[in-house]
This record gives sequence, structure tokens and C-alpha cells, in this order.
Amino acid sequence: MSSNSTIAHNLDTCYGKGSPSSIHYVHVSHTSSVTYGRKSAAHDLVAMRLRLGYRYYWEVSGAAAVPCKLCHSPAGHTLAHYVMKCPLLVHFRPHGNWDLPPMISWFFNNDIIPAILKDFPLFAPPL
Ligand SMILES: [Zn+2]
Repeated sequence: MSSNSTIAHNLDTCYGKGSPSSIHYVHVSHTSSVTYGRKSAAHDLVAMRLRLGYRYYWEVSGAAAVPCKLCHSPAGHTLAHYVMKCPLLVHFRPHGNWDLPPMISWFFNNDIIPAILKDFPLFAPPL
């Protein structure tokens, strides 16, 4: 089982218990801090989505798969793809094997999101 499918399974377990994304949020919020209102509105929206870990609507609605807005990978419009997999963002990630919540915390703690948005304004867009 890949780390992505493990994450998906964990999130499904959360949803099944009526607690959407709770494990994700607890992990990220306990290992990083985010101050809203100091950067752009686009930054704050992306930061909020990364902290909450919600799936995109198409992922939970059964709608047609949405490609990544950056690399156009089929069904790539997911937080896991943007944060963990998108080949265009490889230089922003630390080396090693990471799960999604620790990677998001690392992004916050190293101020990576403003740098990504500067080069890729469509990173993890709200949709
Ligand atoms: Zn991509």
C-alpha cells in the first residue's frame, strides 16, 4: 500500500466516524502554526485548505476526475498530488519519505507556501 493510499484510507476512516479530516488537522495544527492575514488572500485560502485537509468536491461527489492545474496529470487535482507528487514542485520538497500531514507542517514551518505560490499561483487552488 502506497503512502497515498494509506492517507486516503486514514481519511476514509475519519469520515466513517463522522470526523472529517480530524487526524489530518490535529497533526498539522499541532506541529505547525499559521498566522492568517499577513500574506495574500490566496495564501490564506491555500493554507486553510492544507491545514484542514479536506478533499476536493470532485473527489467526494463522484464527478469526473479533475486534472492537476499545474502539470495536468489526470485526476491530479488532489491535495496529496499537489503536496506530495506534482513533478513541477519537486524542488520545494524535502528529501526522504514523508506522509502528507508532516509534509504540510514542514511547508508551513519553512515558509514554503509563499515561495510555491509565487512560481505557481494555481497551487492547490480552491475549486
Ligand atoms: Zn501536478
